[in-house]
Amino acid sequence: MAKPIAKIGIGWLLCFCLSGSLLAGQEKAQDRRKSLDPKTETSDDPRRIPAQPGPRGPEGVIVLRGGRIFDGTGAPVRDGTVVIRRNTIEKILPVGATDWPKEARLLDITGKTVMPGLIDAHTHIDYAETETAAFLDISEADAMLRAVERARFYLECGITSIRDVGSLHDVPFRLKEWVSQNRVPAPRVFPAGAFITSTGGHGAEGIDPDILVPKSTRLAEGPDQWRQAVREQFNRGADLIKVGSHFSREEVKAAVEEAHALGLKVGCDAETFYIQWAVEAGVDVIEHPLPRTDETIQLMARKGTESVPTLVPYAYIFDQWGGYFGSTSRRFTFSKEANLEVLRRMKRAGIKLGIGTDLVIDWFRYLPLPYISELKSFVEAGFTIPEALAAATRTNSEILDMSDKLGTLEPGKLADVAVFEGKPDQNLDDLAKVDIVIRDGYLVVKNGEVVIPRHITVVPPQPKEKSGRTFQRE
Ligand SMILES: [Zn+2]
Repeated sequence: MAKPIAKIGIGWLLCFCLSGSLLAGQEKAQDRRKSLDPKTETSDDPRRIPAQPGPRGPEGVIVLRGGRIFDGTGAPVRDGTVVIRRNTIEKILPVGATDWPKEARLLDITGKTVMPGLIDAHTHIDYAETETAAFLDISEADAMLRAVERARFYLECGITSIRDVGSLHDVPFRLKEWVSQNRVPAPRVFPAGAFITSTGGHGAEGIDPDILVPKSTRLAEGPDQWRQAVREQFNRGADLIKVGSHFSREEVKAAVEEAHALGLKVGCDAETFYIQWAVEAGVDVIEHPLPRTDETIQLMARKGTESVPTLVPYAYIFDQWGGYFGSTSRRFTFSKEANLEVLRRMKRAGIKLGIGTDLVIDWFRYLPLPYISELKSFVEAGFTIPEALAAATRTNSEILDMSDKLGTLEPGKLADVAVFEGKPDQNLDDLAKVDIVIRDGYLVVKNGEVVIPRHITVVPPQPKEKSGRTFQRE
């Protein structure tokens, strides 16, 4: 969803999402894990960059004792204890076992439900609000502060990872880096960088490309530029590529081929026949519940194309504006019921479906309600509540290409964990009752509030005698 520009109207309510893929034989992103010894440590992202070996995360052991464990694997909920060492889930103990070090930090969660950290598979972390002045809308400083403010909202909902499918400037990349150092309270960020489309495409409709194109959009014309645009996002640090109609078949194929060679998946915001073209080209994830033919749905199922349907932002648009008007990238009729039907058809076809909220303007203030609403739509479309929660955790980790490290509570996985009062696996409204959130082994939310420990003072170096060093202000 693109941010509507203030006072211009609903026509600007656009959403940027698109993914692309290749023709048969080059269908999936190249997997660097095939070239890496499993013992080789890498970055905790789809880029899999070899990293300096050594301990990661905070020192010590955290024990979440006596909770109801929903582990995201499909296993029934059971009572037990989760033991976290540094940034890793070390073990899951049965009730009664006390096999942890004496110095461990013990948190009693008896009667509460412990789950894998939730994932939001469709965010725009730094889009401006409707009333934001135009000069602040494009301000990198303001965009960074917007992202930092918003990140806290997600974290307080138990969301420990976001798949950011289009943001301004270098904001999502810098935020990702600071989160990895635990220097700001936020979920892990998996950024796409700028959304790639062509002149007049989604998010750039009617805009003079020489003057006004938002920094969250990269316009590209022709296959060579689409390939170049992908390389630019990779160079900035992208964990995925996001593309959107309008495009030619050759353009989307070029983008997908380049992204897959670099090891990145492609997500795509497309409409009607462009969805078919995107799927044929090998796009990995189709965003949104926009209309598509049965032929396209069957092709998605055959090719293993995933989808993040994002029903909730469209529900807000229909409720708040009465329709989606004035957009040349939305030239079709749709409705809340029609969107739900697209979800039902995709589920019936066996397509892998993830949970994403696509919150733009000030909708992040509604959290956690949009996230819960999206899950409830999944239930309405035929998922059981545990299946919907698995979509929010395990399936979303697969969509991120991170299922070997995130998405379930299992020994060896990264310690992204959320604890809720009540039983979210029976009543989704209990997801609003967040108690504890742990991201990468750090206790970041306690009693439902972000924890920011007091800084640790660093003692300055002692004066050196006769060091010969001088410090002089110019
Ligand atoms: Zn979007």
